Amino acid sequence: MSALPMTSTYSMWSLFRNCRKACEYRYVVGLASRDKDPNLSFGSLIHECLQLWHETRDPDAVIALLDRACAGRVSDDNARRDWHLARAIMTGYATRYPHEEFEIVALEKTFEGAIINPATGAASRSFLLAGKVDGIVRIGGDHYILEHKTAAIIDADYLERLWTDFQIAIYSHYVEQALGIPITGVIYNVLGKARLQQGKGETEEEYLARRAELIAKSKTGKTTAKRRLAESDEEFQARLVEKYAEPEMFHREMLYLSRDRFDTLRAELWELTQAFLDARRRGVFYQNTSFCFNYHRPCAYFPICRSSGNPNVIDNFYQRVAPNEELRVLPATTTEPAF
Ligand code: SF4
Repeated sequence: MSALPMTSTYSMWSLFRNCRKACEYRYVVGLASRDKDPNLSFGSLIHECLQLWHETRDPDAVIALLDRACAGRVSDDNARRDWHLARAIMTGYATRYPHEEFEIVALEKTFEGAIINPATGAASRSFLLAGKVDGIVRIGGDHYILEHKTAAIIDADYLERLWTDFQIAIYSHYVEQALGIPITGVIYNVLGKARLQQGKGETEEEYLARRAELIAKSKTGKTTAKRRLAESDEEFQARLVEKYAEPEMFHREMLYLSRDRFDTLRAELWELTQAFLDARRRGVFYQNTSFCFNYHRPCAYFPICRSSGNPNVIDNFYQRVAPNEELRVLPATTTEPAF
């Protein structure tokens, strides 16, 4: 009896293309770092808020979700930072987009389809491709994929790079196939991540040291400096809300998809499946050390590679996870329209 095809995602293929060794650790061995990447957690929180907002358009429901998700914010600095930022983003978003030019067709929609050999038209017996799109929307008679992004800087370079987002192009193709909806293009819904920090205030010692410095520099030997107090939650939230009233904190970019692009990406996906099978058969997933610091921080598997696969490092810093956690469907609060 032949084995069932493995469900793969674009994240897996992208990682395989970037570093085969990282792909092996994540998708063959099933290892994930015990330290959660704060950027990924914040991105998931914003996705959850956007899903709820687009389902209900109820700002109070979104704030209640944030209050629950960041319940530890009284004692946890990271939870408090996320709560402030997400609250300001969602408040600004609701003000910026009180009405939408599109109509929601589906949100957080998962799909699954065959990976096809472009030379023969036969489906792979080893892999399926599964994924999830943030939304499918309609403008007039045209359908678009809605893709949410959070970005520290939204500039011309960032928008230019969206073209290289192969994942969304290949997912559009699969949405067309699996759901029978022709996709005209992608609407990128980009939300800026403000870098503002909540003012911490000075300790008594810091204040006295600063005061002494000012007095030393002063001709009169005096200073009116007062101890800086920590910024209250209300003050910080007001500063963030002001920031998110700036038009450049939100951006929508529409990209049209060409059919030629679909063909190129499908052919590349097939090539990746063949290379993966070959690597697995020979048990050789080589390292790409040019990728170790690709995102200006070490790759999640850097401690393993640096220690040459030390089992103690693996036991202490990693846990076993299911291969495609990103396919987890967020709970829907309303019924999705049928199509
Ligand atoms: S640390 Fe470098 S070589 Fe090792 S898995 Fe990550 S990217 Fe690959």
